[in-house]
Amino acid sequence: MLRIDIITLFPEMLSGFLDQSMMKRACNRGAVNFQFINPRAFTTDVHHTTDDRPFGGGPGMVMKPEPLFAAVESVKTPESRVIYLSPQGNVFRQTHAERLAGETHLVFLCGHYEGVDERVIEALVDEEISIGDYVLTNGVLAAGVVIDATVRLLPGVLGGEGAAEQDSFSSGILDHPHYTRPETFRGQSVPPVLLSGNHAAIAAWRKEQALERTRLRRPDLL
Ligand code: SAM
Repeated sequence: MLRIDIITLFPEMLSGFLDQSMMKRACNRGAVNFQFINPRAFTTDVHHTTDDRPFGGGPGMVMKPEPLFAAVESVKTPESRVIYLSPQGNVFRQTHAERLAGETHLVFLCGHYEGVDERVIEALVDEEISIGDYVLTNGVLAAGVVIDATVRLLPGVLGGEGAAEQDSFSSGILDHPHYTRPETFRGQSVPPVLLSGNHAAIAAWRKEQALERTRLRRPDLL
């Protein structure tokens, strides 16, 4: 079982998502276990302060080190991989999800405001992951993206019908187009080869389609 701890000031932003569809199924099947840790629970002052003004001045607030150290250290073990979601991290890819799916314990640290005190990253974080070249207000949605892409790869989560190997990027290129009933809808028909029952011809058509759309949409993958 993959254990996932999510350190965030806003657990409600993600808890509903993790309690639906494939993530819920993954939990029910014992493939993953989710736990939220709120750094606010580790504050010691009367106002439960988690942020403060930046040294050196400037706009915004910075997440204080004390509650974050305490939160991470409450769950971290020698087997843990601590990930800070950050626009400055490595841009997340399918290969990262495949690697993370092989871990036993992931700790996702979600920033807010201007981010976290740099000493937290230096002392506790194993890797920084970005979900793209844009800035979100908070890391918890980014954690949800990384968690979803990772958990769906765990054994038994997708089942035979959705084998991840057929998806885009898993084989290095984009997926082929998909069709289901009805055969004709609003004048658009399913490609006849898919109705032929000729499995070799279907496989060849799908391969050709996958390569063609990769060439058109993502030539960088070829
Ligand atoms: N001052 C930071 C910077 O410019 O690098 C941005 C801070 S951002 C407003 C607040 C938090 O959102 C970050 O600490 C991080 O956890 C999260 N975040 C924002 N954009 C992200 C991205 N593209 N990928 C992952 N996390 C992101």
